Amino acid sequence: MKEDIFPQGSAWMNGEFINISEARIPILDWGFLRSDATYDVVHVWKGQFFRLDEHIDRFFESTKSLRMPCSLERDDLKKILAGCVRHAGLDDAYVEMIQTRGVSKNFQRDPRKANHRFIAFAVPFGWILNPDEFEKGLNVIVSNIRRIPPESVDSKIKNYHWLDLISGMFEAYDSNVDSVILVDEGNNISEGPGFNIFCVDASGLYTPDKGVLEGVTRQTVLDLAEEINLPVNLKPISIDMLNDSIEVFATSTAGGIMPITKINNQLVGNGKPGKVTRQIHKSYWDLHVNSRWTQSVNDLV
Ligand code: PLP
Repeated sequence: MKEDIFPQGSAWMNGEFINISEARIPILDWGFLRSDATYDVVHVWKGQFFRLDEHIDRFFESTKSLRMPCSLERDDLKKILAGCVRHAGLDDAYVEMIQTRGVSKNFQRDPRKANHRFIAFAVPFGWILNPDEFEKGLNVIVSNIRRIPPESVDSKIKNYHWLDLISGMFEAYDSNVDSVILVDEGNNISEGPGFNIFCVDASGLYTPDKGVLEGVTRQTVLDLAEEINLPVNLKPISIDMLNDSIEVFATSTAGGIMPITKINNQLVGNGKPGKVTRQIHKSYWDLHVNSRWTQSVNDLV
């Protein structure tokens, strides 16, 4: 039965590696009852972590901002993450590190009284857009649902406040499309469930400057654009600008660079992945075999 539900995977909890099917948290954990948690996800491709230190930097920053600093040293954290991948027996993996507020004694309503919990796990690599569907690309809608504003929940802290995104996913499925882009309080585009958005026009790349998670893949695109002297503008993107773009793509650790070829039933450009998207997609995957950007799982365990 368990085998039908759980993927191949391994978790680290309470000081030991366990099968993913055995990993569970107490119901009274603030992380579960209040979404009082932060996390990060790094991927492993052909046995190599990609930009592991950048993910750990963001995780450490997030845990600090939420006043539950991660107590692990960087090298110990790396060892645990690599251990999860090794125990799971995976070459390509999605590796998540989580810090929850934990449980407070006698269910006290004071978050300062809770004992923080750290969990990590590795499962097979997951794709928002399957690589064999690259040419088809993603077909999305722009929803009227507003992403939680950064003044309410700091979007730089990777979090599980996903009810807006999940409502948007249902809206997308009801419209028979793959996914959704939410808007911000100014009716500019923000992000989608697990991905940032880039638009391309004749003058270069555009991506929202605020109200979104500062994705590590988004940063990688900014780095690659600099290398090839492609101008990038970080600024609010109106729905009109999105609709006028000659190319649009999504970026995520869960799949990399993914062309968006249809928005609200209208083709983007000619409805095929564009030149810039293809070039960045290729460069992004080329970085995965470049030791400047990767760390081997085997060297870390
Ligand atoms: N935006 C949101 C809301 C996310 O949850 C994610 C990743 O899960 C992203 C953007 C993309 O971030 P990254 O490139 O670091 O995976």
